[in-house]
Amino acid sequence: MKVLFVVSECAPFIKTGGLADVAGALPKELRKLGIDVRLILPKHSLIQEQFKSKMVKLFDIRIQLGWRNQYCGIELAEIDGLTYYFVDNEYYFKRDEIYGHHDDGERFSYFCRAVLDVLPHLDFQPNILHCHDWHTGMIPFLLKTEYAQNPFYQDMKTVFTIHNLQFQGIFPKEILTDVLNISEAYFTRQFLEFYGQVNFMKAALISADFITTVSPTYKNEILTSHYGEKLEGVLRERGNSFSGILNGIDDNLFNPKDDQDIFLPYEKSTLEKKLVNKRKLQELLEFPQNEEIPVMAMITRLTKQKGLDLIKAVVHEFINEDLQFVVLGTGDYEYEQFFKLIEYFYPEKVKVNIGFDEGLARKIYAGADMLLMPSLFEPCGLSQLIALKYGTIPIVRETGGLNDTVESFNEYTGKGNGFSFANFNAHDMLFTMKRALYYYKNKLIWKQLMESAMSSDNSWAQSARQYQQLFLANRKV
Ligand code: ADP
Repeated sequence: MKVLFVVSECAPFIKTGGLADVAGALPKELRKLGIDVRLILPKHSLIQEQFKSKMVKLFDIRIQLGWRNQYCGIELAEIDGLTYYFVDNEYYFKRDEIYGHHDDGERFSYFCRAVLDVLPHLDFQPNILHCHDWHTGMIPFLLKTEYAQNPFYQDMKTVFTIHNLQFQGIFPKEILTDVLNISEAYFTRQFLEFYGQVNFMKAALISADFITTVSPTYKNEILTSHYGEKLEGVLRERGNSFSGILNGIDDNLFNPKDDQDIFLPYEKSTLEKKLVNKRKLQELLEFPQNEEIPVMAMITRLTKQKGLDLIKAVVHEFINEDLQFVVLGTGDYEYEQFFKLIEYFYPEKVKVNIGFDEGLARKIYAGADMLLMPSLFEPCGLSQLIALKYGTIPIVRETGGLNDTVESFNEYTGKGNGFSFANFNAHDMLFTMKRALYYYKNKLIWKQLMESAMSSDNSWAQSARQYQQLFLANRKV
């Protein structure tokens, strides 16, 4: 079985969010199952030199994009036994951000074409192309149409994974003929047209052989108009060719037992060392150093998706509780300013770090007592999984993967690994936070919660087996 992962970002090379974590971890787990998995991604100029220096150029070809004829170099890196192919084109990928440019439609059209066109030149003919998110959305479509006539591609199947349905890659109609060389005949509702524009995500949803998303709850949610981002109808038509497979985390990358970035490694049996991490974190953040005061954290993109409007609605009420609140994130100006203002009002209780800082994130996961994730929607969510692993108790809204991975504490049975609330309602969130703060005072219960959090099994092993089943079922034999 040969599988090629096609993805726009992948840890440790380049990461803006959970997608990169998945691309970094799942292939390793699949390889353990005997699958020959390789990855292909853009050679973003932001990739660090330590990785670039390991890349070796294999060959270059030209890619036709409408009237454009573009260079495409393929570079290879073998890291930890995995093979990565990098698509090199500085015109498209030498940028200071990996997304958000006026020509993203053209950049990722190029990437889709490049992946398909280089395949016959690699010594690797995959049975399955596993494509991720809208950046790769045109691949299943092109494979079913233009490339279907070519014997080289005839037995190739596609699996497409939705990591976030909100980002769909919607561009003006002209992209079809001007960039993608796709006939306007496909600009219909049945195919690529989406409210007068072209939609890359939709292209994949109508043509991939199988579709997955990253948690069973999110799968059910996006079949409804409330969460479906106007694509629920297209998804419903796919019936049984659509499933939800929960993401995991890489236990080797995220483990307080041997995390080099935290102050003092610890595990379930040495939870007193987590307290050392807490004190050091309080010192670093210039909070009063008092281990009795709970530290609540958020490590997140600062966008509407993450439920920040709930915090805005009740912020003064919850900051008045006995707690220290630390935020690490970047994102929308509106939310960055909001948190900065709150920090200004409550300097003793609130610390806000605007930025992306992996090292600090790990220190917070290790040192905090609770992680707040009141998301409006959450396809899977990795932050709560990392928090669980570090014995930091998640407080979440019951949506998407948060619903599938956090079990709210039940005071009668003693079961649970976090706290949760159902409705997107600020006072429900506040009530749940207060509930967590109340049980925090009970050392016995809190220890039990931490132990149960750290025992939660969110490793990739089980999910990787589900992907394996799916590849086997879809492979052309
Ligand atoms: P999403 O993919 O929607 O951003 P996830 O919870 O799936 O959210 O994944 C977010 C990942 O990015 C986690 O590994 C989290 O720790 C990390 N992360 C988010 N914001 C920051 C930040 N400002 N600094 C460091 N790491 C961050």
